[in-house]
Amino acid sequence: MKAPCIIFSILYLFSLSIYSQQVQDPYEVGIWPGFRTAAINYTFDDGCSNQFKTAIPLFDEFGFNLTLFTVTNWVGNWAALESAAANGHEVASHTVTHADFRNITLEQQETELKNSREIIESHIPDNKCITMAYPYCATGADTICSKYYLSARGCQGFVEPKTPGSYFNISSVICGNLGDINTLQDFKLRFTDAANKNGWCVFLIHGIDDDGGYSPITSGELRRSVEYLSVRKSKFWVTTFASATLYSRERDAVNVIETMVTDSSMTLQVTDTLPDLVYNFPLTLRCPLPADWPSANVTQDSVTVPKRIVLVDTTVYLNFDVVPDAGNVIISKNLTPVTPEADTIPGDDVDPPSDIRQTSINNSAIQAVYDKGTLIIALNDIISSNLMIYIYDTRGIMLMSKKQKSSGDNTISIAIASDNLCNGVYYVYLSDGKNTWSQKFLVI
Ligand SMILES: [Zn+2]
Repeated sequence: MKAPCIIFSILYLFSLSIYSQQVQDPYEVGIWPGFRTAAINYTFDDGCSNQFKTAIPLFDEFGFNLTLFTVTNWVGNWAALESAAANGHEVASHTVTHADFRNITLEQQETELKNSREIIESHIPDNKCITMAYPYCATGADTICSKYYLSARGCQGFVEPKTPGSYFNISSVICGNLGDINTLQDFKLRFTDAANKNGWCVFLIHGIDDDGGYSPITSGELRRSVEYLSVRKSKFWVTTFASATLYSRERDAVNVIETMVTDSSMTLQVTDTLPDLVYNFPLTLRCPLPADWPSANVTQDSVTVPKRIVLVDTTVYLNFDVVPDAGNVIISKNLTPVTPEADTIPGDDVDPPSDIRQTSINNSAIQAVYDKGTLIIALNDIISSNLMIYIYDTRGIMLMSKKQKSSGDNTISIAIASDNLCNGVYYVYLSDGKNTWSQKFLVI
């Protein structure tokens, strides 16, 4: 009577060796990229018009990506979807006809799943259509869905843990006047829930304002939620449903082994057993920076990869992003000392900038240009003697806040020494106590 037990054990070990994460000490794999606390997806269904007019420009403004679950028979404008995809947003399947999977045959399910993917990829070849959302949240057969997709969205209303119970029925929370999420406060409860369990929170949005879409949410509250996240980028990973799927599955399957150590280098093998053609999303790994190393360089397959040296509590970590099965990773000693960065995340009641939560935001009202140590902000329709000005980097870390009057020609000049700013994108927020305006600027 022992045989079944032995067979079970062998299968169990076999499955563990394929699917479970194995990471050699002292290396760690981030639950989410950059060792962020939680993943947040904003997903939009049915192609309601303000998703294009309002949501995409809003997300572009803050450098976030969203997911457009698209009913291929309903698409009026492939060019708009194509340009969204070119900006990094995900165009994914919401079937061909918005079919209710409770009422169709398995053959019809397969046709809906297969054809919608083919149609999307034929219009937007660079956008791999790898996820789908079930219309009416009515799930179909996993065995069919998994032939064409890596994950599927349902809408059970809860925040998923870091690994969802089923990749083919990932829970989402419905937004708008027929759902649970209408105000910044509602969003924040879900963000907190996600952070507390290192989880994965998916929002489902249809209409925005008065575009006629189902269960509309107001653009003002949507913006407030995005602004809240924009100053907490080092805590929340705002990303597409596809990217969260890839990261989650790779993270759970990765193997990290140190294969060689010298005084000045470590060599790692980072592998998994997932198909490399699609599972090529970078995972964030870290190890303590060796005590006598001033800094470090990281390469994979001889190409330099993104890295950060970060102080967490009292440990200095080397964080780096590598792709499983994409070649040996070599960490080498660098003699140039680097001051470790430390992420500071605004508390909930700090709310910098505190009055960003007011309404009526019009970003065409300001322009911001950084040139030779001075940020020049041109005000178009803003009449105020006293403005609060906040400057953030893309990780949401506040670099400066000050009160300043505009000059006679409606400009504000702020001196910021260029050695305080690395090259890249920054954000400036202005507030007159009632209204808030924001704009990106570039330091090159
Ligand atoms: Zn729908």
